[in-house]
Amino acid sequence: MTANLLDYDLDGLAAFCETLGEKRFRATQLFRWIHQRGVRDFDDMSDLAKSLREKLKGVAHVAAPAVLSQHESADGTIKWLFDVGGGDAIEAVFIPEDDRGTLCVSSQAGCAVGCRFCSTGHQGFSRNLSTGEIVGQLWFAEHFLRRHLKTDERVISNVVMMGMGEPLQNYSALVPALKTMLDDHGYGLSRRRVTVSTSGMVNFMDRLGEDCPVALAVSLHAPNDPLRDDLVPLNRKHPLAELMAACKRYLQHAPRDFVTFEYCMLDGVNDGAEHARQLVELVRSHDVSCKFNLIPFNPFPQSGLVRSPQQRVAAFAKTLNDAGIVTTVRKTRGDDIDAACGQLAGEVQDRTKVGARIARQRTVVTKPVKFLPGVQETTGSS
Ligand code: SAH
Ligand code: SF4
Repeated sequence: MTANLLDYDLDGLAAFCETLGEKRFRATQLFRWIHQRGVRDFDDMSDLAKSLREKLKGVAHVAAPAVLSQHESADGTIKWLFDVGGGDAIEAVFIPEDDRGTLCVSSQAGCAVGCRFCSTGHQGFSRNLSTGEIVGQLWFAEHFLRRHLKTDERVISNVVMMGMGEPLQNYSALVPALKTMLDDHGYGLSRRRVTVSTSGMVNFMDRLGEDCPVALAVSLHAPNDPLRDDLVPLNRKHPLAELMAACKRYLQHAPRDFVTFEYCMLDGVNDGAEHARQLVELVRSHDVSCKFNLIPFNPFPQSGLVRSPQQRVAAFAKTLNDAGIVTTVRKTRGDDIDAACGQLAGEVQDRTKVGARIARQRTVVTKPVKFLPGVQETTGSS
């Protein structure tokens, strides 16, 4: 098996090239061909010496996970289901907006945290994705979209690690992936436009602040420990006081001067007036600079939970806003293709042949996007 060059950030690729007797600037050239130009065939990398291209062919390849299916929503959201082998499938979602293009990326097949309201959590954990599988979602989506939209300009301006999995439970693969996203020779994304979302892995929040500070979103979902223990089981290990303290520490390194708290609105569970008041008290007493993003719950049958009525969400947002905490309500996008939060590759209990089964479950295609000529060949693993 040869090395997949998507597994390396620029430093990693430089170290790899060194083993081939090549200087760092060759690694930079190679990195630019792969990430900026979307080229995977070494023969097409015209400014690399022929001898190097031949050498690379024997020891390396460039492969993103293979696409199992692609669905486009009426609102322009595109969801890809990728095969990561062993019966596991993961998803990435592109969300176009007027002033930005956001890609929602997965970090694990399944998730071990097991939040009650999340269909990924209900699936259980299968495995961590490699750096190449994380970066491969961006590599594929960016270069597919450029071809699809017939542009040479960058299409994806923002990445959110909000797909399947808990990114901070896959730290060693995550960091080189983030570095590749940020690298000027890679995707050149601003630190403020790359967001890691975590359910509260306190130790790794500290490490991320040191190693690779990017924007941080924390999935809060409850204003007190008993309720959060129930909704986000990780809270039993890292209760709210610890989490708030970690947010404050993170802000010393963060590229933004606030943490975004995500709060999934669950009817009759965490959406009452008293919960909103407790939240205000929580963030005030810990003096955490923050914004709130209220997420309408996307229901799935096994959860036994229901989305809060709009009025209650509005009242909740008003309490927070009136207290001076900037609060937005997330628009749901891609509803018609199940591309919304927590629905990704969902409803799967039996982990065998998951990919094929999900692909079958998801045949309600609203508007299929045709693969453009040449795109398929760039995606298969070799
Ligand atoms: N594991 C990380 C990132 C992936 S989940 C985390 O928990 O932060 C991304 C976001 O989607 C989280 O805020 C999560 O709480 C939310 N989410 C999960 N399931 C959801 C659902 N069914 N409806 C709405 N939001 C959901
Ligand atoms: Fe895992 Fe995040 Fe889902 Fe919780 S919400 S189960 S941490 S993916």
